[in-house]
Amino acid sequence: MRDPPDMLCKKHRKAYQAMCEEDRLLLCIDCIIGEDQHRDHKLASLDQAYERYRGQVSETRDQIIEIVDMASITKQIDQRKEEMRKAAEATEQKLVRFTQYLISKIEQRRELVKGAIAETLRKEMESLSENANFLEQISSEKLRHMEKLLGQTPQHFLASLFL
Ligand SMILES: [Zn+2]
Ligand SMILES: [Zn+2]
Repeated sequence: MRDPPDMLCKKHRKAYQAMCEEDRLLLCIDCIIGEDQHRDHKLASLDQAYERYRGQVSETRDQIIEIVDMASITKQIDQRKEEMRKAAEATEQKLVRFTQYLISKIEQRRELVKGAIAETLRKEMESLSENANFLEQISSEKLRHMEKLLGQTPQHFLASLFL
């Protein structure tokens, strides 16, 4: 055992020789022999005490390391959770933007189709009214021709039809 000056018994100024397990006190030879207090107490050699307490301290240290590790794992899990939350948020924003993009494209397309249909209808209406005008013209010409025929004398009427 190391024996620096501060490792001397404060009362007797002698090196420690044993440890009283009951009192958890280090004892010098005078403490052991001269003090009635420890007579019936169980003593441990310094080596025994060292081994035992060293074991306890190292066990405590391992527990602390475990706790620190768990804390660090918990912290990592929290960080990962936060990263995943942000990633999910970013994905959702992308999805929203993409959906908005699709909707705007569909609306543009709808406007184009609407315009094309309106144009086709307009052209059809135009051609229908042209045809109607044409028919009306032909009908009125035929009508005038009939009126003219009917206004003729019987001889001229028959001659117009059969000659
Ligand atoms: Zn002493
Ligand atoms: Zn004692």
